[in-house]
Amino acid sequence: MEENKSKKEKTHRDIGIPVKQPSRVCKDKRCPFHGNLSIRGRIFEGVLKSKHNSTAKVEWEYLIKIPKYERYEKRRTRVYAHIPPCIDVKQGDKVRIAECRPLSKTKHFVVIEKIE
Ligand SMILES: [Zn+2]
Repeated sequence: MEENKSKKEKTHRDIGIPVKQPSRVCKDKRCPFHGNLSIRGRIFEGVLKSKHNSTAKVEWEYLIKIPKYERYEKRRTRVYAHIPPCIDVKQGDKVRIAECRPLSKTKHFVVIEKIE
C-alpha cells in the first residue's frame, strides 16, 4: 500500500542510497532524484576540483601498501561526474558521487550529495 502511494507523489524518486534530498526540483533527465537516471555500481567521496557547465572533475586519494618497503604509497583517482541542476556545489566542495550508466565518453558518475 505504502509503495503505491510514494510512486504517485513523483517529486523525488528514492535513489536507494540514504542521502539528503535536494531542496530544489529540477527538470534534468539525467538527475537521479527528478529524472530517469538510475544509480548502480560504486559510491565514492571526493573533492570537486573543477567545474564546467554540468560536469565536475572529482578527485580522491587513497593509500596502497608496498610490501617490499613496508610503507604506504599515496595514489589518486580522478573522474568526471555529472552535476544535476538541483544540487549546488562549487570548487573545493566535498561531494559524494555514485556510478551510473555512461553519460558521455568519459562521464559515468553523478554527484548525489554535498558533504558538509
Ligand atoms: Zn534534480
